[in-house]
Amino acid sequence: MSTFSGFYKKSRQERIDLLVHERALSEESLAILQQDHNLPETIAGKMAENHLGTFALPFSVVPEFWLNGQEYSLPMVTEEPSVVAACSLGAKIIGKSSGFTATIHERLMIGQVALYDIPNSAEARQQILAETDTILNLANQGHPSIVKRGGGARKIQVEEKDEFLIVYLSVDVKEAMGANILNTMLEGMKDYLEDLTKGKALMAILSNYATESLVTAECRIAISTLATSSAIAQETAEKIALASRLAQVDPYRAATHNKGIFNGIDALVLATGNDWRAVEAGAHAYAGRDGQYRGLSTWEIEGEELVGQLTIPLPIATVGGSIGLNPKVQVAFDILGQPDARTLAGLIAATGLCQNFAALRALVTTGIQQGHMKLHAKSLAILAGATEAEVDTIAQQLRKEKHTNLETAKRLLQLLRQEKEA
Ligand code: NDP
Repeated sequence: MSTFSGFYKKSRQERIDLLVHERALSEESLAILQQDHNLPETIAGKMAENHLGTFALPFSVVPEFWLNGQEYSLPMVTEEPSVVAACSLGAKIIGKSSGFTATIHERLMIGQVALYDIPNSAEARQQILAETDTILNLANQGHPSIVKRGGGARKIQVEEKDEFLIVYLSVDVKEAMGANILNTMLEGMKDYLEDLTKGKALMAILSNYATESLVTAECRIAISTLATSSAIAQETAEKIALASRLAQVDPYRAATHNKGIFNGIDALVLATGNDWRAVEAGAHAYAGRDGQYRGLSTWEIEGEELVGQLTIPLPIATVGGSIGLNPKVQVAFDILGQPDARTLAGLIAATGLCQNFAALRALVTTGIQQGHMKLHAKSLAILAGATEAEVDTIAQQLRKEKHTNLETAKRLLQLLRQEKEA
């Protein structure tokens, strides 16, 4: 039996204790978790303008998750009920087979200088390419410390698009996400490019379409583990494969399919202090790369296995931005075992695939509402004003009602209290 069996039934303190023990968390992480210590006001005030305070969300964990033969716990920040439960269940089922594998294809960030009003674009393009070394040097001079860390500008590409001549710069940003690094480098190249092309630079900025930071997560699930009856297991696998084909041909389904993937990805991206808008923007652009918006993952049957695959751009960092500032983010890295950016990107892609599996499995079998409404009923009970002692009773009663809504929750709470008084 796994050390984490029945994790969801334990008290918050028991979960913390188990995690501290199993993941060898530091004394500092333990103290932050126990006191539920959040972002200090002095730091919050420096992170964003006009600040009034801080804004909390649940900080949860998926206890067991297998990637590339190693066991992890995944910290998750999400407001949506059932995301953590679904991911934990998916991870458990997939863990019984091979777990996940992840491949990092490349880890370069792309930025662009968009030039216009160029007298001769074709000639300018050749001039830029001929001066590649000078331009790469200029970029590196803009941010010498990243070169000292073994990173730096790697290549340029030039493309004519409509009235623009666009210079794309690819940079190895090591453990950072690289937005500020690239923006500084690109601004360092701007004047030179204007002089060289006799044109004007409209802007110099990082691109969030991080096609040179692609990550592929894969899992192979023994079909027999999908249900106790082999006929139902086979039918479930076939329906999951069919659902994945639906997301390839129908953008209405694809958007929801990908939202399910992001339920997992965003939760881990947020917990690790990464820029979730950057990840979302890049991945949605990638989902529409051939002109039609499609599901980011695919599921196919190969013999006795259901094989899932997800490829996604993941500009993920372990340093920079707000990562070093937020105490909870530090705990998240501790829970993850202090991964480097490549490992973290692999974990994030695999989490997206796991979440997708859990959602598809529920959708093609019992339907998504069964699990959702269980947790939603608890949220409604709290919203109706139920105390901790009343929440479970109201949630249970609510699930038996025809209309699971706030009005019903309030009525049930009133009845419960009247009964108690009587
Ligand atoms: P930072 O500006 O925080 O830069 C990261 C810094 O970390 C580096 O400059 C480097 O400084 C230091 N560092 C320490 N160790 C390492 C290491 N091993 N590898 C790499 N760097 C290391 O962050 P980024 O440039 O990554 O930019 C990310 C931030 O920019 C995010 O907050 C993002 O939200 C924001 N942003 C995003 C935009 C977008 O997505 N379009 C646009 C603008 C900003 P040094 O080497 O000097 O010590």
